[in-house]
Amino acid sequence: MSTTLIRNGRLVTASDDYRADILVEGDKIKLIGANLSMQTDRVIDATGKYVIPGGIDCHTHMDLPVGSVSSSDDFETGTIAAAHGGTTTIIDFATQARDGSMHAALDAWLAKAQGRAVIDYGMHMIVTNLPDELLPEMDALVREGVTSFKMFTAYPDRLLLDDGTIFKAMQRAGENGGFVMMHAENGSVIDYLAQKFVDAGKTTPNYHPLSRPHQTEADAAQRVILLSELAGVPVYIVHVSSHLAMEAIRAARDRGLPTFGETCPQYLWLAYEDYADGSFAGAKFVCSPPIRERANQEPLWRALASDDLQTVATDHCPFCFHEGYKGLPKQKELGRDNFKKIPNGVPGVENRMHLVYQGGVVQRGWSMNRFVQVTSTAAAKLFGLFPRKGALAIGSDADIVLWDPHRPYTIRAATHFMRVFYNPYEGVTVDGSPLLVMARGRVIFENDQFLGRKGQGEYLKRGTYAW
Ligand SMILES: [Zn+2]
Repeated sequence: MSTTLIRNGRLVTASDDYRADILVEGDKIKLIGANLSMQTDRVIDATGKYVIPGGIDCHTHMDLPVGSVSSSDDFETGTIAAAHGGTTTIIDFATQARDGSMHAALDAWLAKAQGRAVIDYGMHMIVTNLPDELLPEMDALVREGVTSFKMFTAYPDRLLLDDGTIFKAMQRAGENGGFVMMHAENGSVIDYLAQKFVDAGKTTPNYHPLSRPHQTEADAAQRVILLSELAGVPVYIVHVSSHLAMEAIRAARDRGLPTFGETCPQYLWLAYEDYADGSFAGAKFVCSPPIRERANQEPLWRALASDDLQTVATDHCPFCFHEGYKGLPKQKELGRDNFKKIPNGVPGVENRMHLVYQGGVVQRGWSMNRFVQVTSTAAAKLFGLFPRKGALAIGSDADIVLWDPHRPYTIRAATHFMRVFYNPYEGVTVDGSPLLVMARGRVIFENDQFLGRKGQGEYLKRGTYAW
């Protein structure tokens, strides 16, 4: 078994901050202590670096078919990009076909990932249809390690479930220990508004956010929170973009409900004002829920600091802009004449940790503990991976990042690893970045060089939630 000693680092977890050495044996953390000095295959000097648990991006969409196209990163390119930015675990989504079983969906998504992913991955299940005969599948999936179920109040034509079905699934999850994730936007109101714009000839990308106002997100969030309360199950609202939706989560938490919220770098860093002119370049920023006004950013940052929101994930779902990339089709171009046809999604899996570090620790004075909590530990706990992931502890997987606070990194599409020829954060310079990334005991990135191997990521059977 290979052994590595990481010496002289400053170990930071969600709760601790101290100087110590870590002995890695095989794929696990074997020992943590002061002044360890044993014979190992490699010694890594971490002087002046933070040694933190690898990041967990609990919301990605690799190789996701949307209409006639698929997200441009697959499980190989997407996980290489993730690792470059310090993320060593992703949780992606298997989507049940409307006329299919959930197990068939899981098999299909595992086939996309196996042999490709370079870091470990878990799967959530997107439920799109739930006749009573499929309810036992939910119980089986929880036993088999798919412990979270995502449902939609948006996209009436493809994904939306009626409130009764959402409630039925919530109740079942409450009984079998599953965890419920909700895409909360009022899909039928949005569809009405969007069509009204299109009918009036207002078809440019800036009408995408205008057709999805704050109230449509907050209304759906409030509704699913109340349904989850009635069903007796925790609920996790994915990609909270609006301060109004966040306030619904905060109010529920103040009432003592197990309500949780995730936001994403695009809602913390990007602003509607930057593409309000209607130019087609705005298609790069079309995602759902949409990018909001700049004034909406600060309430979300504050909510992360005060635990009104718990996680930052990316909803990574890249589509190529019109330049195309290495023979990939011009995917966003599909909506040139109608914003409703622009594939929804932005890239981000590579830059999540960069952007939260810069915005949180550097610009807003967060502790490194809070940084680790929102980028890793909270997701590990909520999605049943703790303390295997999200921790630096004896017996934990050796998913370890040496974060150098004095290693500036400028985000550029020309040098990023994501398979998409633009970056929404083009030109942003962050003060600190990962120097070395270890995934289950193997160094897979060092000095921006990929040293890993396709297929070495393993599928994670997850446990049930805790917090
Ligand atoms: Zn998503």
